[in-house]
Amino acid sequence: LAAPLFADVAGDIEVSFEFFPPKSEKMEETLWESIQTLSPLGPRFVSVTYGAGGTTRERTHNTVARIARETAIPAAAHLTCVEATKAEIDQVAEEYWAAGVRHIVALRGDPPRAGEKYATHPGGYENAADLVTGLRKLHPFEISVAAYPECHPDSPNPGADIDNLKRKIDAGATRAITQFFFEPDTFFRFRDDCAKAGISAEIVPGIMPVMNFASVQRMSAMCGTDVPVWMGKLFEGLDEHPAARQLVAATLAAELCRKLYAGDVRQFHFYTLNRAELSYAICHLLGLRPKVGAALAAA
Ligand code: FAD
Repeated sequence: LAAPLFADVAGDIEVSFEFFPPKSEKMEETLWESIQTLSPLGPRFVSVTYGAGGTTRERTHNTVARIARETAIPAAAHLTCVEATKAEIDQVAEEYWAAGVRHIVALRGDPPRAGEKYATHPGGYENAADLVTGLRKLHPFEISVAAYPECHPDSPNPGADIDNLKRKIDAGATRAITQFFFEPDTFFRFRDDCAKAGISAEIVPGIMPVMNFASVQRMSAMCGTDVPVWMGKLFEGLDEHPAARQLVAATLAAELCRKLYAGDVRQFHFYTLNRAELSYAICHLLGLRPKVGAALAAA
């Protein structure tokens, strides 16, 4: 008989969690409950996204600054080049440094109006690599960047996309976090191609537990992620069954992580969508347990 599922995981993993800035008091409460639930797992860092076109600039800053102030978890702020001059972006980065934030997820961002071609803002950073170079000149930030196992839609081909990732790492980024994907081989192929291109920085898989299949399909279509046919079948008929859908979502994401673990992946980044339960359950299945002291430090 084969070993029971998850019997071979040892909990020797490192995790990080991504949140988006809350839009209302209610959402803020949910976010803080999630951070409190997940923090005993001892994440390496938690990160907060930056809305398209800098629309969440204040809210992202307030959320990251509060995490830095009130918890012991290292906080990372996402920052994009969209609709801002270099001076404006440098100012945001300076404010983070002053608030004790030492980690930036440096991104180009998407065009402010969906469907338009990306255009560099006059006087702005040209792309993520250029932003990494700019941040490096300001302070010794830890910098993470984005990577695309299924190739970014703006890239002419996968090779050019990996060259772009290499430019970001060579400019001073320490880690790449991937776009979400659903087949482990997609990640393994990409990791091999990065190694062949001489990229030795950490490539951390971004894990998206599927809370809402229709919205994941929409997001996947925009960012070029393949949604396997078998996955659609597994979510069929669950629209009116949120609890069952959660269980299916946790099972699928945990199974993806288990296969990645079997392929020597030890770092995982979770797109939490500000809900703790799914990410917590998946971490638990991977053998991660609350760390003594982490809960107190997070309080
Ligand atoms: P870049 O690395 O600059 O590249 C984008 C594309 O353009 C690549 O295909 C690259 O090959 C091509 N390219 C860039 N420069 C050149 C060049 N000089 N020559 C040739 N080709 C070039 N978006 C947000 O708005 N807010 C967020 O908080 C956010 N967080 C994210 C977190 C993660 C982990 C990931 C994976 C994505 C995130 N995004 C976020 C989405 C991201 O902003 C978009 O995917 C965006 O379209 C590309 O950003 P980038 O940093 O990857 O861009």
